[in-house]
Amino acid sequence: MHEVNEDSIKLREEVFAYARRRLEYDPAPLDGPQSPEWLHQNAGKTISESGIGGSQALEIFSEILAPSTISTDHPNYLSFIPSAPTEASKLFDLIVSASAIYGGSWMEGAGAVFAENEVLSWLASEVGLPKGAGGVFVQGGTLGNLSALVAARHSASQKLTSAGKPLPSKWKFICSAEAHSSLKSAAAVMDVEIIKAPVDETGHLRGSAVAEVLATAGDGVFAIVATAGTTNFGIVDKIDEIAAVAIENQIWLHVDGAYGLAGILSPETKPIFAGVEKADSFIVDPHKWLFAPFDACALVYRNPELARAAHTQHGEYLETLTESGDWNPSDYAYNLTRRPRGLPLWFSLATHGVAAYREGVRQNIDLAKQIAEVIRNKPDLELVREPELSVVVFTKKDWTLKDYDSWSAKLLARGEAFVVPSSHQGKPNARFAIVNPRTEISALVAILDSMDEER
Ligand SMILES: *Cc1c(COP(=O)(O)O)cnc(C)c1O
Repeated sequence: MHEVNEDSIKLREEVFAYARRRLEYDPAPLDGPQSPEWLHQNAGKTISESGIGGSQALEIFSEILAPSTISTDHPNYLSFIPSAPTEASKLFDLIVSASAIYGGSWMEGAGAVFAENEVLSWLASEVGLPKGAGGVFVQGGTLGNLSALVAARHSASQKLTSAGKPLPSKWKFICSAEAHSSLKSAAAVMDVEIIKAPVDETGHLRGSAVAEVLATAGDGVFAIVATAGTTNFGIVDKIDEIAAVAIENQIWLHVDGAYGLAGILSPETKPIFAGVEKADSFIVDPHKWLFAPFDACALVYRNPELARAAHTQHGEYLETLTESGDWNPSDYAYNLTRRPRGLPLWFSLATHGVAAYREGVRQNIDLAKQIAEVIRNKPDLELVREPELSVVVFTKKDWTLKDYDSWSAKLLARGEAFVVPSSHQGKPNARFAIVNPRTEISALVAILDSMDEER
């Protein structure tokens, strides 16, 4: 398995050739899922005592398995939050895989950790956090939110303990009623209470709503979470108002910007993030809107020491690392072994420069504005909310979920677009999430037009 021979060299070339073909698609076919039965039948039995050989396994992947996965980087993949990694970032992901770098400690991964930290420092400075801010790239926003909240609770608990005060019977954090599902999940994992504050009529969490729930929450509130770009609508909470409440009450402010915080890069939308510079921690997912491959969430703390105190794992086999005083990325989140998943973004940023990123984000927001205008001018379509970033949500007159579902299935079956229905307050809708600079207005208009052929 580990020896180099004629067969292994041949396989190496075949794999590189496949990777090259996938990169050269323009665009890659959208493709789509198959049933387990179909996959059983067509992929057959691949795991056996003797192995089927790399060439055969690669053929099964390229002919059967890969076409049974949706290409999330297709310009007309508009569901959930798509991904649109730059070619530079995809290429560098190959290098990361080929390099066997341990990204958990400075001792083992110094060069890689240095480069990742350059990116985290840049993000911290865009957000406006002071020098000294830092963190780690974790697998995704779900783990980023959990890790930040664990650090926040630890810090609150330390404060009480060192003041000689008793700990609350139940820890709690406050977030918006439209916050991401991962926060509810974090609350369950941490066994804490989640308090959902109502949003205003345009979907924003306001300082007044936070203050109101805080007044009746009792003790034990250790964090307030503001969302910088809701997943369903791309709405940015009034972070400055929320920050004022957090500061007044000395409560940790976490900003969940998994999707939307990338919007701060565009000078036109930067003002709507005002107050984010007061955050104690924030997350933003490069695999969502910073044009990097799966899977990467940048988790940054104002004071990384507080996170280190909460997260460092201690064991006899680790002491040489934990006692070193080095910057070990593992210490800043709920993780130990990690790949240096920030490197694809580092390479692409180093290659293209920040201005290209600002322009990519700006262009997506501009396209969202353009298609919103088209929707506004169609009498049978209606915007559910005014888009703030690059998510556009709309309904078609008299359509039920069945209509949206059947339209969506046909678009995918024709290989044209991936637009699954969403819903708001129980009412189904269609939703474009635009994070791909290669998405075109003409394609979006064609997707809207295809709704007219539905019945
Ligand atoms: C996507 C998202 C998350 C979760 O991120 P994952 O990378 O999918 O784990 C959290 N919060 C918001 C606002 C999101 O959009």
